[in-house]
Amino acid sequence: MDANGKKKILVVEDEKNIAQVLAYNIKKEGYDCTCAYDGETGLTEALTGGYDLILLDIMLPRMNGFEVCEKIRLVSQVPIIFVTAREEEKDKILGLDTGADDYVTKPFSFKELLSRIRANIRRSSGEVVQVRQTPAAGAVIEVGELAIDTTHYSVTKNGEAIELSKKDYDFIAFLAANAGKAYSREALLEAIWGYDDYYGDIRTVDVTVCRIRNKIEKDPAKPEYLMTKRGVGYFLAKR
Ligand code: CA
Repeated sequence: MDANGKKKILVVEDEKNIAQVLAYNIKKEGYDCTCAYDGETGLTEALTGGYDLILLDIMLPRMNGFEVCEKIRLVSQVPIIFVTAREEEKDKILGLDTGADDYVTKPFSFKELLSRIRANIRRSSGEVVQVRQTPAAGAVIEVGELAIDTTHYSVTKNGEAIELSKKDYDFIAFLAANAGKAYSREALLEAIWGYDDYYGDIRTVDVTVCRIRNKIEKDPAKPEYLMTKRGVGYFLAKR
Protein backbone atom coordinates (compact mmCIF):
# COMPACT_ATOMS: atom_id res chain seq x y z
CA MET A 1 0.00 0.00 0.00
CA ASP A 2 1.28 3.52 -0.70
CA ALA A 3 1.18 6.60 1.55
CA ASN A 4 -2.35 7.45 0.40
CA GLY A 5 -3.65 4.01 1.29
CA LYS A 6 -3.87 2.91 -2.32
CA LYS A 7 -3.02 -0.66 -3.22
CA LYS A 8 0.13 -0.88 -5.32
CA ILE A 9 0.34 -2.87 -8.51
CA LEU A 10 3.49 -3.64 -10.48
CA VAL A 11 3.23 -4.27 -14.22
CA VAL A 12 6.21 -6.14 -15.69
CA GLU A 13 5.82 -5.94 -19.46
CA ASP A 14 8.42 -5.14 -22.10
CA GLU A 15 5.99 -3.74 -24.66
CA LYS A 16 5.85 -0.19 -23.39
CA ASN A 17 2.60 0.78 -25.09
CA ILE A 18 0.82 -2.24 -23.57
CA ALA A 19 2.34 -1.53 -20.15
CA GLN A 20 1.20 2.08 -20.30
CA VAL A 21 -2.34 1.26 -21.36
CA LEU A 22 -2.48 -1.26 -18.51
CA ALA A 23 -1.14 1.29 -16.04
CA TYR A 24 -3.62 3.91 -17.23
CA ASN A 25 -6.59 1.57 -16.70
CA ILE A 26 -5.30 0.27 -13.39
CA LYS A 27 -4.83 3.82 -12.05
CA LYS A 28 -8.31 4.74 -13.23
CA GLU A 29 -9.59 2.00 -10.90
CA GLY A 30 -7.96 3.73 -7.94
CA TYR A 31 -4.76 1.70 -7.66
CA ASP A 32 -1.22 2.95 -7.66
CA CYS A 33 0.70 1.46 -10.59
CA THR A 34 4.37 1.20 -11.57
CA CYS A 35 5.81 -0.38 -14.73
CA ALA A 36 9.02 -2.32 -15.25
CA TYR A 37 10.11 -3.17 -18.79
CA ASP A 38 12.40 -6.16 -18.29
CA GLY A 39 12.57 -9.19 -16.01
CA GLU A 40 15.51 -8.12 -13.87
CA THR A 41 14.16 -4.66 -13.16
CA GLY A 42 10.76 -6.22 -12.50
CA LEU A 43 12.24 -8.63 -9.97
CA THR A 44 14.15 -5.91 -8.11
CA GLU A 45 11.09 -3.68 -8.06
CA ALA A 46 8.86 -6.58 -6.91
CA LEU A 47 11.18 -7.39 -4.02
CA THR A 48 11.66 -3.83 -2.82
CA GLY A 49 8.51 -1.95 -3.74
CA GLY A 50 5.95 -3.29 -1.27
CA TYR A 51 3.46 -4.25 -3.95
CA ASP A 52 0.00 -5.71 -3.36
CA LEU A 53 -0.12 -7.50 -6.71
CA ILE A 54 2.11 -8.16 -9.71
CA LEU A 55 1.09 -8.53 -13.34
CA LEU A 56 3.82 -10.50 -15.01
CA ASP A 57 4.44 -10.99 -18.71
CA ILE A 58 6.27 -14.20 -19.67
CA MET A 59 8.42 -13.30 -22.66
CA LEU A 60 10.65 -10.60 -21.18
CA PRO A 61 14.20 -9.44 -21.88
CA ARG A 62 16.95 -10.22 -19.31
CA MET A 63 14.89 -12.78 -17.32
CA ASN A 64 11.67 -14.50 -18.31
CA GLY A 65 8.47 -14.30 -16.30
CA PHE A 66 8.70 -17.87 -14.96
CA GLU A 67 12.14 -17.14 -13.47
CA VAL A 68 10.98 -13.84 -12.05
CA CYS A 69 8.01 -15.59 -10.42
CA GLU A 70 10.17 -18.35 -8.99
CA LYS A 71 12.58 -15.85 -7.45
CA ILE A 72 9.78 -13.73 -5.98
CA ARG A 73 8.24 -16.86 -4.46
CA LEU A 74 11.41 -17.60 -2.53
CA VAL A 75 10.67 -14.60 -0.34
CA SER A 76 7.14 -13.36 -0.97
CA GLN A 77 3.57 -14.57 -1.30
CA VAL A 78 2.43 -11.43 -3.15
CA PRO A 79 -0.33 -12.35 -5.65
CA ILE A 80 1.10 -12.83 -9.16
CA ILE A 81 -1.04 -12.86 -12.30
CA PHE A 82 0.70 -14.06 -15.45
CA VAL A 83 -0.23 -12.30 -18.65
CA THR A 84 0.29 -14.78 -21.44
CA ALA A 85 0.38 -14.31 -25.17
CA ARG A 86 0.19 -17.89 -26.31
CA GLU A 87 -1.74 -21.09 -25.69
CA GLU A 88 1.43 -23.05 -24.92
CA GLU A 89 2.36 -20.56 -22.21
CA LYS A 90 -1.09 -20.98 -20.73
CA ASP A 91 -0.61 -24.76 -20.74
CA LYS A 92 2.73 -24.33 -19.03
CA ILE A 93 1.19 -22.20 -16.28
CA LEU A 94 -1.58 -24.73 -15.78
CA GLY A 95 0.68 -27.75 -16.00
CA LEU A 96 3.61 -26.60 -13.91
CA ASP A 97 3.56 -25.40 -10.40
CA THR A 98 4.87 -21.99 -11.33
CA GLY A 99 3.79 -20.34 -8.11
CA ALA A 100 1.44 -17.98 -9.93
CA ASP A 101 -1.97 -17.27 -8.49
CA ASP A 102 -3.73 -16.67 -11.76
CA TYR A 103 -3.26 -15.92 -15.43
CA VAL A 104 -4.93 -14.01 -18.24
CA THR A 105 -4.44 -14.66 -21.92
CA LYS A 106 -3.87 -11.82 -24.39
CA PRO A 107 -5.96 -10.31 -25.78
CA PHE A 108 -8.06 -9.80 -22.65
CA SER A 109 -10.69 -7.29 -21.65
CA PHE A 110 -9.86 -4.79 -18.93
CA LYS A 111 -13.10 -5.73 -17.24
CA GLU A 112 -11.87 -9.30 -16.93
CA LEU A 113 -8.37 -8.27 -15.86
CA LEU A 114 -9.68 -5.86 -13.21
CA SER A 115 -12.00 -8.54 -11.89
CA ARG A 116 -9.02 -10.85 -11.48
CA ILE A 117 -6.96 -8.11 -9.84
CA ARG A 118 -9.75 -7.37 -7.36
CA ALA A 119 -10.29 -11.04 -6.57
CA ASN A 120 -6.60 -11.73 -5.99
CA ILE A 121 -6.05 -8.66 -3.82
CA ARG A 122 -9.17 -9.40 -1.77
CA ARG A 123 -8.07 -12.94 -1.19
CA SER A 124 -4.48 -12.12 -0.26
CA SER A 125 -5.46 -9.31 2.08
CA GLY A 126 -7.73 -11.66 3.99
CA GLU A 127 -10.86 -9.75 3.01
CA VAL A 128 -12.37 -13.06 1.99
CA VAL A 129 -11.90 -16.30 3.82
CA GLN A 130 -9.39 -18.25 1.79
CA VAL A 131 -11.49 -21.32 1.23
CA ARG A 132 -14.97 -21.20 2.61
CA GLN A 133 -16.28 -24.24 4.42
CA THR A 134 -12.80 -25.47 5.20
CA PRO A 135 -12.58 -26.76 8.77
CA ALA A 136 -10.66 -24.78 11.36
CA ALA A 137 -6.89 -25.01 11.07
CA GLY A 138 -5.62 -27.87 13.14
CA ALA A 139 -8.03 -30.46 11.86
CA VAL A 140 -6.85 -33.47 9.91
CA ILE A 141 -9.47 -34.66 7.47
CA GLU A 142 -9.24 -38.31 6.57
CA VAL A 143 -10.80 -39.62 3.42
CA GLY A 144 -9.92 -43.26 2.83
CA GLU A 145 -6.13 -43.47 2.60
CA LEU A 146 -5.84 -39.71 2.24
CA ALA A 147 -5.13 -37.40 5.16
CA ILE A 148 -5.42 -33.65 4.69
CA ASP A 149 -3.57 -31.78 7.41
CA THR A 150 -4.97 -28.25 7.67
CA THR A 151 -2.22 -27.07 10.02
CA HIS A 152 0.61 -27.86 7.67
CA TYR A 153 -1.35 -27.58 4.43
CA SER A 154 -0.14 -31.01 3.48
CA VAL A 155 -1.68 -34.13 2.07
CA THR A 156 -0.53 -37.68 2.61
CA LYS A 157 -1.69 -40.97 1.17
CA ASN A 158 -0.96 -44.02 3.31
CA GLY A 159 1.38 -41.79 5.26
CA GLU A 160 3.36 -40.74 2.19
CA ALA A 161 3.57 -37.05 1.40
CA ILE A 162 1.98 -35.88 -1.83
CA GLU A 163 3.56 -32.77 -3.33
CA LEU A 164 0.84 -30.27 -4.15
CA SER A 165 0.87 -26.60 -5.04
CA LYS A 166 -1.04 -24.26 -2.74
CA LYS A 167 -3.96 -24.08 -5.18
CA ASP A 168 -4.09 -27.86 -5.56
CA TYR A 169 -4.07 -28.16 -1.81
CA ASP A 170 -6.89 -25.59 -1.46
CA PHE A 171 -8.84 -27.51 -4.06
CA ILE A 172 -8.60 -30.89 -2.39
CA ALA A 173 -9.04 -29.46 1.12
CA PHE A 174 -12.23 -27.75 0.00
CA LEU A 175 -13.65 -30.94 -1.49
CA ALA A 176 -12.50 -33.02 1.49
CA ALA A 177 -14.22 -30.69 3.94
CA ASN A 178 -17.39 -31.24 1.98
CA ALA A 179 -16.79 -34.87 0.98
CA GLY A 180 -19.55 -36.48 -1.02
CA LYS A 181 -20.98 -33.18 -2.20
CA ALA A 182 -20.55 -32.37 -5.89
CA TYR A 183 -19.67 -28.85 -7.03
CA SER A 184 -19.95 -27.31 -10.46
CA ARG A 185 -16.76 -26.07 -12.08
CA GLU A 186 -18.10 -22.52 -11.80
CA ALA A 187 -18.68 -22.97 -8.06
CA LEU A 188 -15.17 -24.38 -7.66
CA LEU A 189 -13.65 -21.47 -9.57
CA GLU A 190 -15.47 -19.10 -7.27
CA ALA A 191 -14.58 -20.98 -4.10
CA ILE A 192 -10.94 -21.75 -4.81
CA TRP A 193 -9.85 -18.95 -7.14
CA GLY A 194 -12.24 -16.39 -5.68
CA TYR A 195 -13.57 -14.71 -8.80
CA ASP A 196 -16.27 -12.22 -8.02
CA ASP A 197 -17.71 -12.48 -11.49
CA TYR A 198 -17.59 -15.50 -13.62
CA TYR A 199 -14.64 -14.73 -15.87
CA GLY A 200 -12.61 -17.76 -15.05
CA ASP A 201 -11.69 -20.36 -17.59
CA ILE A 202 -13.41 -23.53 -16.40
CA ARG A 203 -10.63 -25.47 -18.06
CA THR A 204 -8.52 -24.35 -15.11
CA VAL A 205 -10.68 -26.59 -12.94
CA ASP A 206 -10.39 -29.56 -15.30
CA VAL A 207 -6.63 -29.24 -15.55
CA THR A 208 -6.34 -28.96 -11.77
CA VAL A 209 -8.46 -32.10 -11.34
CA CYS A 210 -6.32 -33.95 -13.88
CA ARG A 211 -3.09 -32.90 -12.15
CA ILE A 212 -4.37 -33.91 -8.69
CA ARG A 213 -5.65 -37.26 -9.98
CA ASN A 214 -2.21 -38.00 -11.37
CA LYS A 215 -0.84 -37.55 -7.87
CA ILE A 216 -3.43 -39.23 -5.68
CA GLU A 217 -5.13 -41.90 -7.76
CA LYS A 218 -3.83 -45.42 -8.36
CA ASP A 219 -5.24 -45.22 -11.88
CA PRO A 220 -6.02 -41.59 -12.83
CA ALA A 221 -8.30 -42.86 -15.60
CA LYS A 222 -10.43 -44.68 -13.01
CA PRO A 223 -10.44 -42.33 -10.06
CA GLU A 224 -11.50 -43.61 -6.64
CA TYR A 225 -11.22 -40.29 -4.81
CA LEU A 226 -11.58 -37.27 -7.02
CA MET A 227 -14.75 -38.16 -8.90
CA THR A 228 -16.67 -36.64 -11.79
CA LYS A 229 -20.37 -36.21 -11.25
CA ARG A 230 -21.77 -36.25 -14.75
CA GLY A 231 -23.65 -33.09 -15.62
CA VAL A 232 -22.68 -31.46 -12.31
CA GLY A 233 -18.96 -31.27 -11.67
CA TYR A 234 -16.58 -32.84 -9.20
CA PHE A 235 -16.61 -34.30 -5.71
CA LEU A 236 -14.37 -36.19 -3.36
CA ALA A 237 -15.73 -39.65 -2.63
CA LYS A 238 -16.60 -40.42 0.99
CA ARG A 239 -14.67 -43.53 1.80
CA1 CA B 1 6.70 -9.62 -23.74
